[in-house]
Amino acid sequence: MVGGGYAGLVAARVLARRFDAVTVIEADRIDPDAAPVHRKGTPQSRHPHALLARGADILERLFPGLRAELAANGAPLSDFGRFPMLYPTGWSPRVTTGIPLQTFSRPLLDAALRRRVLAEPTVVLADRTRVEGLALDAGRRRVTGVRTGVHTGVHTGVRMVSTDPPEPGRILPADLVVIAAGRHSRLPQWLTDAGLAAPAALSVDARLSYASRVYRRDARAPALDWQASLQATLAPAARRGGTVLAIEERRWLVCLFGADGEMAPTDPGGFAEYAASLTNPHIGQIVAEARPLGPVHRYAGLGGQWHRYDRLRPWPGGLVVLGDALCSLNPLYGHGMTVAAMQAVLLGRTLNTPDIDGACRSFQRRAARTLRLPWLLTSSLDLGWRTEHVPLTAALSRRVLHRFLRRIPDDPALYRRFLKVQHMTASPATLLIPSFGCSGEGGEGI
Ligand SMILES: Cc1cc2nc3c(=O)[nH]c(=O)nc-3n(C[C@H](O)[C@H](O)[C@H](O)COP(=O)(O)OP(=O)(O)OC[C@H]3O[C@@H](n4cnc5c(N)ncnc54)[C@H](O)[C@@H]3O)c2cc1C
Repeated sequence: MVGGGYAGLVAARVLARRFDAVTVIEADRIDPDAAPVHRKGTPQSRHPHALLARGADILERLFPGLRAELAANGAPLSDFGRFPMLYPTGWSPRVTTGIPLQTFSRPLLDAALRRRVLAEPTVVLADRTRVEGLALDAGRRRVTGVRTGVHTGVHTGVRMVSTDPPEPGRILPADLVVIAAGRHSRLPQWLTDAGLAAPAALSVDARLSYASRVYRRDARAPALDWQASLQATLAPAARRGGTVLAIEERRWLVCLFGADGEMAPTDPGGFAEYAASLTNPHIGQIVAEARPLGPVHRYAGLGGQWHRYDRLRPWPGGLVVLGDALCSLNPLYGHGMTVAAMQAVLLGRTLNTPDIDGACRSFQRRAARTLRLPWLLTSSLDLGWRTEHVPLTAALSRRVLHRFLRRIPDDPALYRRFLKVQHMTASPATLLIPSFGCSGEGGEGI
């Protein structure tokens, strides 16, 4: 497993029950026993991470008791319908949806997943180890391992075996190499270095940025009737937005969004002014009244990119790619972690065969299907920022989505259906045919 971030951990959990040994190779230093921390390799962890219902459901089945563990660690849990969202067309209705809303920091989630994955007897973590390329067989038909840089330690479960002096780079052989190296994965370069083709990529860039800051949540907080609140950006005119989430350790995580090149300042005064300029009063109120616990962190360059590995011919055996390394989506719509969890489960199912190489090709094709709906949704909305020609399908689906957004403030039943589609637990058909009784619920046989 190349990458010990979110997708690497979830996929490692699935593979741990199918392979005799799973090595998670991670460039950052990881101390599995330390309190949750931010890492250089996952800079997005400073920013809000909402988990959609489909993703939360998969995680709960892969890691039973996870939701309760996060709650015991202070991550508030309520109903998604109690999450006030302000669209340019109005506020979302306050309804009970049955869709759980749990808000936590990304380090808390990653630490919980990592602890459980490393408790699997077949999993080891090689941290402070950067993968620098692929090893292939002589005919370049199959990946046989990875080339690593210097590495200094291996964790096995809760034990750590340090190598001192550090071991020099070497080839780590593997029956299956899973690339889960995130948004900045160098797999396209590694393929061309190995004499293979690099994939074509689809890109849509809303020129989006996030600026986030953590605040103390004081004793007054339980009196509020929301634990999270949001103002959405929306092409072609709503460039400013933001969110505030109650997270563990009695903290607020406030994030200010800017689309189409707009950016919230990182200095405290500018950050507060930007927050106060939003129509959603909850965000500005927390920024004005709560005590900040650190600086503002900005993440810009959040364009979506889908590497079409599914279309590469030939695709080498022994190699799969998932998570953000396969497709990084606009984070505003919150699909990334859910899609990665769906792909991890799909990988497990596809590998229920002795033909690993065939399974790799089949996985890459089927993984593309998990991305179709999120890509269509996010790219059709984001293409609205463009002034030049927009493909017809994207223009049509944007028009349909805008029509729903106009109706949602006054139509709680439509809003419930809309949320289920957004959370990937119901088919979009349920929106188009109001009397359609079937929910089209998606399910993963894990
Ligand atoms: C600002 C922001 C906000 C987001 N908000 C949400 C949200 O609300 N909801 C949601 O579902 N998703 C959200 N996402 C998306 C989510 O963060 C990703 O989908 C998720 O992290 C994907 O997991 P991953 O393992 O593919 O990548 P990552 O979690 O980024 O992990 C990649 C790992 O690979 C390691 N690595 C990289 N290269 C190498 C190498 N050569 N050798 C060894 N290790 C390597 C890195 O150090 C890192 O640990 C957001 C993303 C961003 C940027």
